[in-house]
Amino acid sequence: MHVVCKEHLELAIDMFVDEYEDAPDIVDLEEVKFTGWDPPPHCERCAGPGRFLVV
Ligand SMILES: [Zn+2]
Repeated sequence: MHVVCKEHLELAIDMFVDEYEDAPDIVDLEEVKFTGWDPPPHCERCAGPGRFLVV
């Protein structure tokens, strides 16, 4: 599972495909809220906002 900004979305997708050999689901965290789970505030690769969940 990766939480990334828009700039790192493609990289996270590539990493996911390498890791699992399958296409990930991409969740826009501005549109979807999970109860009982707060996403990390920042991208895992930079200080940008963590906008997309790649899972
Ligand atoms: Zn980033």
